[in-house]
Amino acid sequence: MARYTGAVCRICRREGLKLFLKGDRCFTDKCAFSRRGYVPGQHGKERKKISNYGLQLREKQKAKRIYGVLEKQFRTYYKRAERVKGITGESLLKLLELRLDNVVYKVGYGASRNEARQLVNHGHFLVNGKKVDIASYTLKVNDVIQVSEKSRGTEKFKTFAENPKTLPAWISANYDNFEAKIVAEPKREEIDVPVNETLIVELYSK
Ligand code: SF4
Repeated sequence: MARYTGAVCRICRREGLKLFLKGDRCFTDKCAFSRRGYVPGQHGKERKKISNYGLQLREKQKAKRIYGVLEKQFRTYYKRAERVKGITGESLLKLLELRLDNVVYKVGYGASRNEARQLVNHGHFLVNGKKVDIASYTLKVNDVIQVSEKSRGTEKFKTFAENPKTLPAWISANYDNFEAKIVAEPKREEIDVPVNETLIVELYSK
């Protein structure tokens, strides 16, 4: 699948905030946004008035980039969200949160969503006992994610297990067993991405 292969730090600078796309580096003084927190390019430091449409567009771009989803796939998520009973914007974020690569990242297997996606693609995980190597796989309540037996002995996974993360209430994890479970659907207030989903709905509703 096509994927953005440019310098990811430019994305943070373009969106005007730290999106934590590079794992540990994001927390060091090497962070490009901390050093040059303006839009990349010749006119990056100029202040421009943004139209309403511009704001909506930026919000959508930001969400896409945080979750590493391309335009077509993002639109598909939106259509799926529209079919779900409830608030479309919230349903959209829930669907994105329930992606397998995102949950793997939340559990701490991967310093960034990019790394988590790579680990999924390389077949390190099982969902309900079956190998799943599709990063966009949508998890459901009661699904159990496990690190495959073969991968558990590797230094990388041992390190992850030694540094458990604080999990949102909708995920539980047993790091000793290399296992995590979706215990509930994520609530909006538990989704910590800096995105105003209402603007995305406004954009797509035109
Ligand atoms: Fe963004 Fe991380 Fe790069 Fe900083 S280091 S600009 S937070 S991706």
